[in-house]
Amino acid sequence: MRYYAGIDLGGTNIAAGIVDETGQIVGRAIVPTGAERGYGAVVRTMAETVNLAASAAGIDRDSVGSIGVGVPGAVDLDKVRVVEAPNLAWRDVALASELEALCGKKTILGNDADCAVLAETACGAARGRKSAVMLTLGTGVGGGVIIDGRIFSGCGPGGLEPGHMTLVHGGEPCSCGNRGCVEMYASASALIRRTKRAMDMHPDSLMWEKSGGGLSIDGKTAFEAAKSGDKWAKCVIDEYISYVASAVSGLVNIFRPEIVIIGGGIAGQGDYFIKPLNAAVKSRCYANKLISPPETVAAALGNDAGIIGAAMLCMQKEDIK
Ligand SMILES: [Zn+2]
Repeated sequence: MRYYAGIDLGGTNIAAGIVDETGQIVGRAIVPTGAERGYGAVVRTMAETVNLAASAAGIDRDSVGSIGVGVPGAVDLDKVRVVEAPNLAWRDVALASELEALCGKKTILGNDADCAVLAETACGAARGRKSAVMLTLGTGVGGGVIIDGRIFSGCGPGGLEPGHMTLVHGGEPCSCGNRGCVEMYASASALIRRTKRAMDMHPDSLMWEKSGGGLSIDGKTAFEAAKSGDKWAKCVIDEYISYVASAVSGLVNIFRPEIVIIGGGIAGQGDYFIKPLNAAVKSRCYANKLISPPETVAAALGNDAGIIGAAMLCMQKEDIK
């Protein structure tokens, strides 16, 4: 059995795993990123985290073939430099060669959203499919695309940014400088904003009870109140699903994937979210009477997708066999 190391590099934590040829994580370690310590210290911690994961897996570090890293930002076309990672305050750093020097292992970089869709397509919710679109609904909206078994990230560094397609012309201002971006309406943060607005307008809503009197409003609040029959929460959810469906159907019309994967905590709402989302997506896809629109499913690998996908960067050099 061959093993690879996958590192999911986040602004908060560095999660490393030893992944076998079948995509199983056989050992893992997670440590705080400590980005405020500076680039060099974080790279050393990344190398140490790989060693900890190898110890947890009970394998010798020499058994690890190579290292893949999912970066929260843009990587160059050769997959060796981080062009920019705003959450880490990194700009144009030679991460792959510096990890190689510390670990003695060939290292390849990838965008974290690309790693997630690669993992879900290889051994998760889209297993066996050759084309897939993934949207992750979190603080923002990220995403990736697989075409013919390969990551499609366009030309030039930076990759795809489906969260910054315009969904509402002249809509809410986004951190990217534009207005009305998908992530201003379809992210978990957007759902929480709309939940708060609805609560302010409707003091009788069950959303107050479900959020401890407004003290713990999160992405589940409106879902839980709607499931208990609250009509104001149902309005929030219906509107949210409608926005997500608009974003998804736009991507389906462009890429015509075999399957659409939804990641992030919201996807954990299961059929209560995914079923109406499917219905809305299908009704909005072009020529849906003639061409069967793809199924939209919840991601299956959760946070592990980042580690597995990073390992797969080296395992398959982005090809899904
Ligand atoms: Zn934007």
